[in-house]
Amino acid sequence: MSLFISEKAKSISPSPTLAIDARYKEMIKEGIPVVGFGAGEPDFNTPENVKRAGISAINANFTRYTPASGTLDLKHAVCRKIKRDTGLEYGVENIVISNGGKHSLSNVFICICNPGDEVILPAPYWVSYPEMIKIADATTVVINTTEENDFKFTPDQLRAAITPRTRALVLNTPSNPTGMIYTKAELEEIAKICVENNIYVVFDEIYEKLIYEGKHVNIATLGEDIKKLTIIVNGMAKAYCMTGWRIGYMAAEPEIAKAVSNIQSHMTSNPCSIAQAASVEALDGDQSVIDDMKHEYITRRDYMVKRIKSIDGVSCLNPHGAFYIFMNVRESLGKEHYGKMINTANEFCADVLDKALVAMVPSEGFGIDGYVRLSYATSMENIKTGLDRLEKYLMGEC
Ligand code: GLU
Repeated sequence: MSLFISEKAKSISPSPTLAIDARYKEMIKEGIPVVGFGAGEPDFNTPENVKRAGISAINANFTRYTPASGTLDLKHAVCRKIKRDTGLEYGVENIVISNGGKHSLSNVFICICNPGDEVILPAPYWVSYPEMIKIADATTVVINTTEENDFKFTPDQLRAAITPRTRALVLNTPSNPTGMIYTKAELEEIAKICVENNIYVVFDEIYEKLIYEGKHVNIATLGEDIKKLTIIVNGMAKAYCMTGWRIGYMAAEPEIAKAVSNIQSHMTSNPCSIAQAASVEALDGDQSVIDDMKHEYITRRDYMVKRIKSIDGVSCLNPHGAFYIFMNVRESLGKEHYGKMINTANEFCADVLDKALVAMVPSEGFGIDGYVRLSYATSMENIKTGLDRLEKYLMGEC
């Protein structure tokens, strides 16, 4: 008996970042001392005040349905957060709370795309965007960027990618996987083009709090017209170490928020009531925990960049935000390592995991060849051990 699976489901590949994370966690469970540079998950714990708010919510029996699009309390907290950070005024009618940033993004693509509409996606991109766009029956149009250009696209590239079917541009700053951030001047150019062509900007700023040089600028602050076209997507996971709590949100024009809310009301109902209560505390409570983490991330990043630059066969730029190093391994490809030809980043990562017990994410899933992503959301001790092993591997001493 053959079981039927839809063409759409068959076209969706599993998340490579989560697959590597799962493999890494499995190996650790089996007692294999692997060092994980895989999934981007903060190694810090959820702050105590946030945990306490979750526990209080349970004790207060705040355990029933909330409105499908999220509690008024959390929507107000999101509005306050946006106002505090950007000066922008949003009301609760602009906000939808979802089950993580991924859920917000998926909802958005479903709501703004008809079948065959085009979404422009600069590469390297985070692995889940193309699959989400596919789930929405839309088509991804990739703009390729280069390391020489700091992995950022130019206004001319954007103009060339726009067609009458273009519905949206995805902008992720700071970027996963490159850590690059778009400057205000660059965003102004992008905003102008999007307004001229009436295309949405899906503005994913999930790493906005983790910026080490420069300043995060929200594109919606650059004028009334671009604000109308901007769909802000953000979440609790990275800034507040709440990956498991699954709370994300979007802020957009009320028509878009309403459409997203309608869909969500059928697909999932509300996000977890307890996690929503904890998120209010995360947004309204003490923010100094973010600075503490930032200091630690800067120390780790500086160490990694210095070390990688000193290892033959690999190189990297200095990322300005997020917690990823996008390491160029092209010099180490097309060569034999330990008697085996290694031609691709995929093969490279598999071999390094096998021989050196270091887990990294190959760049194919990010839409570019010849790179490897290393997350530094892991301890300095792990970072040192992992890079020692990588160096040994590349010197043929494993
Ligand atoms: N966003 C993180 C990453 O890129 C977590 C895993 C995922 O959601 O893809 O590693």
